[in-house]
Amino acid sequence: MYAKIIIDQDAKALDKVFEYVLPTDMELSIGMRVYVPFGKRVLQGFVVDISDECVYEKDKLKAIISKIDDYPVIKTEMLELMKFMAKKNHLKLASILRLFLPSEMREGKVKELFETIYSYNCNIEKKIPKNAKKQAEIIEYLKECGGRATSSQLAKFGYSAINSLLEKEIINKEKRVVMRSPFVLSAESKRVKLNNSQIRAIETMCEDKTYLLHGVTGSGKTEVYMNLIESVLSQGKNAIMLVPEISLTPQIMSNFKARFGELVALLHSGLSAGERFDEWKRIFSGQARIAIGARSAIFAPVENVGVIIIDEEHEQSYISEANPRFDTHDVAEFRARYNHCPLILGSATPSIESYEKAKQGYYELVELPVRANGKELPKIQIIDMMNEFRSGNSGIFSSQLLADLTNVINQRKQAMIFINRRGYSSFLRCRDCGYIAKCVDCDVSLVYHREDNRLKCHYCGKQFKVLTHCPICYSENIRQGAVGTEQVVDKLREYFPDVKILRMDNDTTKTKNAHQKILSEFKNTLPAILVGTQMIAKGHDFENVVLVGIVDADQSLYHADYRSTERTFQLITQVSGRAGRSENEGKVVLQTYSPRHYVYKFASNYDYKGFFRKEENIRQTAQFPPFTRILRILFSDHDENYVRELLKICYTEIEKLKNEYKDDIIYLDAMKSPIKRIQDKYRYQIMMRFKLDRADEIEEKIFDIVDNTTKTSVFFEVNPQNLS
Ligand code: ADP
Ligand code: ZN
Ligand code: ZN
Repeated sequence: MYAKIIIDQDAKALDKVFEYVLPTDMELSIGMRVYVPFGKRVLQGFVVDISDECVYEKDKLKAIISKIDDYPVIKTEMLELMKFMAKKNHLKLASILRLFLPSEMREGKVKELFETIYSYNCNIEKKIPKNAKKQAEIIEYLKECGGRATSSQLAKFGYSAINSLLEKEIINKEKRVVMRSPFVLSAESKRVKLNNSQIRAIETMCEDKTYLLHGVTGSGKTEVYMNLIESVLSQGKNAIMLVPEISLTPQIMSNFKARFGELVALLHSGLSAGERFDEWKRIFSGQARIAIGARSAIFAPVENVGVIIIDEEHEQSYISEANPRFDTHDVAEFRARYNHCPLILGSATPSIESYEKAKQGYYELVELPVRANGKELPKIQIIDMMNEFRSGNSGIFSSQLLADLTNVINQRKQAMIFINRRGYSSFLRCRDCGYIAKCVDCDVSLVYHREDNRLKCHYCGKQFKVLTHCPICYSENIRQGAVGTEQVVDKLREYFPDVKILRMDNDTTKTKNAHQKILSEFKNTLPAILVGTQMIAKGHDFENVVLVGIVDADQSLYHADYRSTERTFQLITQVSGRAGRSENEGKVVLQTYSPRHYVYKFASNYDYKGFFRKEENIRQTAQFPPFTRILRILFSDHDENYVRELLKICYTEIEKLKNEYKDDIIYLDAMKSPIKRIQDKYRYQIMMRFKLDRADEIEEKIFDIVDNTTKTSVFFEVNPQNLS
């Protein structure tokens, strides 16, 4: 017998299936990991097929050395998924397989956690010496605990007593694997009476297809998800649910834990390596039947999947930007069809792409048009900051926002202030010569962080001393740019010195469980103000939040990116959705310098459909996705000449495709990337836009061209999220 094996190395030359002889005394099955000889080395590999025939010359084949695990770690479905992703995303096989396993498992870093259990051996009738008080106490204790106790429970009696009981065989000891379980906020499981739209949604979404669940913020989507999962479990099937960010999971998790208990497993990068490994194993073994997590949870080893849910489906985080690059939607679609189960994409603001698919009939649209508690969505008041400025207010808060904040505090309620920039202020600029402080390795301006009085690069993390004068013209007239979270907090403290003001952004949430701590402190303080970046925009359900302030709504609007308006609309809707979620009526104050931009008109009326029609029209006219496809090929290396040379060779080849595909290629150009250097690597790119009809075909040819030209850092991005 022969085994087909993929070598676990991320190298292009090894990106194929190798054949090995299967020793007769080795019981092997597909999906197992093995050690194989490779040249002079011993490497790890995955068994992807076993057959009694081989393609290569029999005599030249080497034999497998040994098994790594004695069970298949990769299941059949995942091997099929690997093939799909290799083709669709142009990825190396080994790099895909690596996605399917917790990295701890591959590196063998994490050990299983054992615990010693002592049990009372009632068959042995031995006397304990009279003076051995501790020993007698242990026996008493064990009897109270039903005959068994852990070593930590018995530690208080002392190990010499335990050991003498062991010697006399009055007690036995054994080792048992314990599961580390991640911290979860506790919540009560509350049952609500479903409203009609919820019932209809649940009844509809049960077939082998993809549904787009468009529900306004607070419409009770979570309740719909939980009911769907409940019914799937009762059919003996299992579920996968994805949420966009870890900061979101504490609340969703606590709701799910309350309802489903130990059946829930949590997978995200905020866990310790040991916790992630153990949660993965609980899913793998079928002990846990609901996998919940961020993007990577789509690869959870759940078998017999009955439903896949992607909550906040429009979120950027579902697209993996680092290698290996993939879109979670595609993977979810594959797994849902493989398991013949529904895929549910939920959002209050579906991506234009998904809504267009629903419109064209690829997805079935299901709507939850009102809030579950019957309350109106909070009123959004637009404040023209130019007007404020003209009337003498040059601060970062409008007089309306300050008045409303005062009100909230007097009523002992809560407010959230949204500003999508962390740090104190964006850049330092010399007012005399225009110099801007930039990172030495990345071509981006630095952000001032007042907390540690440093300038930081948000791309590579490097820190720099604060400037007191301009290094070019020596002027001391240095000014800060746009405000960030730190500054907002500072200013709020000046206005409201006695009020609890919390900050949630990347800087305050670096430590484990920091998210949960901030959120639960906020939850338990009245009055309080929570200042944060997009981390606070989604999912949170705080009953005392009655005011949301958006300090600088235009921030995401003027990016050179076809999706920036869509993103602004989503952000406003999401942030606004945090207010007035219970008995208390909510309000939103939105500050802008472009009050007449169409995005504000639609967003302030919660008119998603109106916005969609306008945006659809613009994209169609301008030939942007979802009506076309954008491909970016990014070349990056420390050696600038090398990258430029590579770019030139590829570009010349790709240009030839124009003869064949003519009008199907709408746009093709080569250029420096907007950020010319990151982490001291130079970045050049080829940008392309195709018509959809032959896009797959063109893409494949381009992959071939690039593959034949180069072996270094080249990244393909389809409809890139971020054009930096
Ligand atoms: P969404 O995810 O759609 O923004 P949630 O699922 O967070 O909304 O629900 C908002 C609130 O409404 C939650 O507090 C939830 O418990 C409550 N809720 C959900 N369904 C109902 C219902 N049928 N009746 C009353 N309250 C409900
Ligand atoms: Zn200067
Ligand atoms: Zn940098």
